[in-house]
Amino acid sequence: MDRDDLTRAQDAISRFILACENIVVFTGAGISTEVGVPDFRSPGSPWRIHTPIPFQDFMADDKARREAWRRKFTMDDVYRDVKPGATHRFIAEGVAQGRVRRVVTQNIDNLHQRSGVPDDKIIELHGNGSYARCMACEQRHEIADIRAHFEREGEPPSCGACGGIVKSATVSFGQKMPLEAVRQAALDMKAADGIIILGSSLVVRPAADLPVMAAEAGAQVLIVNAEKTPLDRIAACVVRGDLPSVLPKNWPLTD
Ligand code: NAD
Repeated sequence: MDRDDLTRAQDAISRFILACENIVVFTGAGISTEVGVPDFRSPGSPWRIHTPIPFQDFMADDKARREAWRRKFTMDDVYRDVKPGATHRFIAEGVAQGRVRRVVTQNIDNLHQRSGVPDDKIIELHGNGSYARCMACEQRHEIADIRAHFEREGEPPSCGACGGIVKSATVSFGQKMPLEAVRQAALDMKAADGIIILGSSLVVRPAADLPVMAAEAGAQVLIVNAEKTPLDRIAACVVRGDLPSVLPKNWPLTD
């Protein structure tokens, strides 16, 4: 992308933002690649080697559980030292200015929280990998404690409170989406007049159905992504490029 293309892209994003009063930002793994968290679908992604174990296998089998935790710790090491990047900061600034009403994310990396977006402004559709929960009593468990136990005993601990199975607080393949999060995200996105989608392939469903519902309810959609997505057809504006380069440096000022 040359300098003129870049200016055109930034202008298009600024114009879209200025035309909206109630914005929801919808994010995917592509917003975190700039800081070193690999996305799922780009070629050579380590997620494809250390693929998360499907939910039913995890719940049914000790061996699958041990393998799931081994892969989780391996992936944690891939991005252990990352910090929020320019895209996370851009979104956080929009929230701080009251321009973004909600951030709906498919990400599990906790970087929206670490960039300063308050918890009540974030909806996590696929959970959060920075802690774990008991599948029976929902007690929270810390990953560092589970890892220390795993490295000592060769297996993950059971829940100290009830003896239940402890799992990373992410939504695995085959696991139900968190109903309340999906309900609230649908409400917010249908009430919005602008949906800004950043760094998502938009092929993971049902998450990718939410922008479609919002568009049907009348919201304008902006998609910023490195490659084509199946929802480009419903977008009022599509910008194809590298997020930290094409996003405006600041939120455009309203009069
Ligand atoms: P995805 O991997 O399917 O798609 C990411 C998209 O971002 C791709 O289309 C890619 O071209 C684009 N992209 C990557 N870097 C970019 C950049 N710098 N600028 C612009 N675009 C860029 O991710 P998804 O749509 O979020 O779905 C994958 C699933 O995997 C989700 O369910 C998510 O929970 C999970 N996941 C999460 C993380 C994370 O938390 N960071 C990482 C990997 C996977």
